[in-house]
Amino acid sequence: MKLTIERTVYHAMLKAARRAAPLEACGLCGGKDGRVTQFYELTNADASAEHFGMKPEEQFAAIKDMRAKGIRMLAIWHSHPASPARMSEEDLRLAYTPGVIYLILSLLKPGKPDLRGFVLNGGNPDEISIVVGQ
Ligand SMILES: [Zn+2]
Repeated sequence: MKLTIERTVYHAMLKAARRAAPLEACGLCGGKDGRVTQFYELTNADASAEHFGMKPEEQFAAIKDMRAKGIRMLAIWHSHPASPARMSEEDLRLAYTPGVIYLILSLLKPGKPDLRGFVLNGGNPDEISIVVGQ
């Protein structure tokens, strides 16, 4: 399984993550055919450095916009300002959206952001390949 992320989307994620640090940033990714074309930065309602929570009204607005654009939600994204790009126990506990890819962007290594994607397989995260492309 592979997910392609358009370069402009990747840069929007990076910008959101860096702006929010040391707190986590979060958002939704829309697209189709395994390709993310649209990024929606959402408020981290938890305002936490270790977990995130999305505001339902912002999620609904993003999903409504995706429908209007003829795309669908492919991934739920958040940043890890100071930990690796792995799903934390908290992330796994709260990962209840079926069929979605969980994207984590780690800022742990300065100047070397690490974006990884996971799908849940019986509660365990399976890493998928992420390609940042045009
Ligand atoms: Zn996390």
